[in-house]
Amino acid sequence: MSGNVTGDGARMAARGAAGNAAWTERYRGAVMNTFGDPQRVLVRGEGPYVWDADGRRYLDLLGGIAVNALGHAHPALVAAVADQVATLGHVSNFFTTPAQVTLAEKLLEIVSPGGAPAGSRVFLANSGTEANEGALKLARRHGGPARPRVLALEGAFHGRTMGALALTHKAAYREPFEPLPGGVEFLPFGDVAALEAAMGDDVAAVFLEPIQGEAGVRALPEGYLARARALTTAHGALLILDEVQSGMGRTGTWMAHHLGHIGGGVVPDVVTLAKGLGGGVPIGAVVALGTDAATLLGPGQHGTTFGGNPLASAAALAVIDVIEREDLRAHAADLGADLRARLSAVDGVTAVRGEGLLIAAQLAGPVAKEAAAALLAAGFIVNPVREDTLRLAPPLILTAEQAGTFVAALPAALASAATAARDRS
Ligand SMILES: *Cc1c(COP(=O)(O)O)cnc(C)c1O
Repeated sequence: MSGNVTGDGARMAARGAAGNAAWTERYRGAVMNTFGDPQRVLVRGEGPYVWDADGRRYLDLLGGIAVNALGHAHPALVAAVADQVATLGHVSNFFTTPAQVTLAEKLLEIVSPGGAPAGSRVFLANSGTEANEGALKLARRHGGPARPRVLALEGAFHGRTMGALALTHKAAYREPFEPLPGGVEFLPFGDVAALEAAMGDDVAAVFLEPIQGEAGVRALPEGYLARARALTTAHGALLILDEVQSGMGRTGTWMAHHLGHIGGGVVPDVVTLAKGLGGGVPIGAVVALGTDAATLLGPGQHGTTFGGNPLASAAALAVIDVIEREDLRAHAADLGADLRARLSAVDGVTAVRGEGLLIAAQLAGPVAKEAAAALLAAGFIVNPVREDTLRLAPPLILTAEQAGTFVAALPAALASAATAARDRS
């Protein structure tokens, strides 16, 4: 299966269509250089596979960074989006639609499996960064001048708009854009004593990712979230969980914090969602649990033109429906456990982390970039999330057999990566 030129390449060549090289050249001439050169030019997808402009096929084990929960061109998502856009694609938020209302109800249900606390409400946005921006506004409304401090963790990634960026730890992302909204402090990851020492009645909110994705897939240690809940409650601060990457069934549960060893039964005040929620259609959500959090923003205090429009809402409903109907949470849990076990046995993989289908494979040296390149050449898309770590966030519809092709290809890719890294140094 590894990246062979298929009939697609021949068909496109016959149509005179440009390949990877020509499109990349045009990309450089027209698209702002914020992402570096694209690795490939992708023209179509089906299930867990995508095809590039030269007709090569790839097993997509990154899933658009935990977005393509149902893979590519899933018939249920295609039908839902096509039907909705043919019926009613967008209205302003001066109006609502059945899709929007149904989605908000559904999100309350899946974020709180035991039943959402009375008064819980949802704000629908367009992305993860926007969801966190909304959550930060909740924190400011909650805190006011008496509570100017917001706590986040080292390694945190919450997005790229100014508020979400202020909550993002990596200095290289933040510093060129300072001054950012103030009051944010970063605490050592998973360090309960540091959290206890930092907590006070001047803290408006604590922002946490139950599993930090961009930091290399690291889960909060057992007990941390429960302690954070106790401390935020004692000091009257909001506990805000960013489940943008870890949510929507990827970890085998709807939310990563539903896993007992991570969440410990904690009910947060706010949960932010995006990525997998729309299965590729842009959408984000701020889920405020309980009357206090849900009533912090009133009419005129927040808004969005696109957020919660019927098209994106219908897409999200289709994603949730397929995950429920096909029991993809159980599948993600089972396949993830199996895949992690098989990855652990690969020579050159020194540690494997993650839950469900959010997985990191730590390598013997700083060769993740070379390994990802070798895997791409062999027909597999993964992400070198750290210099020694590969991240997998594949579609939840991935089969064991498809995952097996990756495990089988990994040793050769790691060997060629080691050679490439040696040549580089
Ligand atoms: C990707 C991500 C974001 C930002 O989401 P965008 O949709 O890219 O704005 C925020 N938080 C976490 C944990 C993420 O992984």
